[in-house]
Order: sequence, then structure tokens, then C-alpha cells
Amino acid sequence: MSPAGRAGRSRAGQGKLTRGCRRVLAVLEQTRELSSAQDIHGMLRQAEPEAPGLTTVYRSLESLVGMGLVQSVDLGDGEKRYEVVEPGEHHHHLICQGCGASVHLDQCLVEDLEKSIKAKYGFEISSHVLEVFGRCRGCLKSSTK
Ligand SMILES: [Zn+2]
Ligand SMILES: [Zn+2]
Ligand SMILES: [Zn+2]
Repeated sequence: MSPAGRAGRSRAGQGKLTRGCRRVLAVLEQTRELSSAQDIHGMLRQAEPEAPGLTTVYRSLESLVGMGLVQSVDLGDGEKRYEVVEPGEHHHHLICQGCGASVHLDQCLVEDLEKSIKAKYGFEISSHVLEVFGRCRGCLKSSTK
């Protein structure tokens, strides 16, 4: 998966999306940042007064995640963030606990691990969650000054 592939993504299944889903997806594609349901709701509200309510946003996010068009990210603060991904793909993040910056990793770190778990335990993994927490270069520099 290369970053260049993002521009040419296909959206073949989009005709089946509900209005709420399409609007939520449009907001996520615009911001390109990890956004909470509240953030998304706020952005929708800014764009149009008749924006879907927060419940609709949550429900839309859930079905978008189910369809593999959006992934949810748990930053450990109790509020899930969402972002657009290539259909069916996912990636992981390095999250700085100093400044809150997040780095999007361009490959899955655990695909090989999944294979060895399957071999060792006969356990078939359907999904996994992995976010890596620590300090970014900038925060490390300013703390050692
Ligand atoms: Zn930082
Ligand atoms: Zn990401
Ligand atoms: Zn992964």
C-alpha cells in the first residue's frame, strides 16, 4: 500500500450509502485527520444548519466502519476517533503523549505475528487493535534541553 494509492481509490459501493453515511464520509475525506463523532458533528453543523444529529453521526460511523470504509482508532482517552481508509484496509498509529500528535503508519505491524499465532495456537484472527503510545521526536528534544 503506497500513499499514492489514496488518490485513485475506488468508491464503487458508495451508491448504497445512506445520506448520513455519505455526509459523514465527506467530512472525514475533507479533514484527513483523526476526528471524534463530536468533531464530525460539529463540522457538519458548521456546513449546514440541518445537519444530521449526533446519534445519526454515531450510527453512520458504525456502518461505515462495518463496511471497511472508515476505521476507528482508540487513543486511550475514552473517545474513539475515526478516519477514512482504503476500502477494507487499516493502519496503526504512533501517538505522542506529550503533544498529542499522531503518525499514521503505512503498514500493518502485526500481519506476520498473526500468521505465527495461527500456526502456533490454531487461532484465526479476524481483527486486531494496535496503537503505540510514547513521545515524538519534538517532545523528546524539548524535554532533554
Ligand atoms: Zn509530541
Ligand atoms: Zn491513520
Ligand atoms: Zn494491523
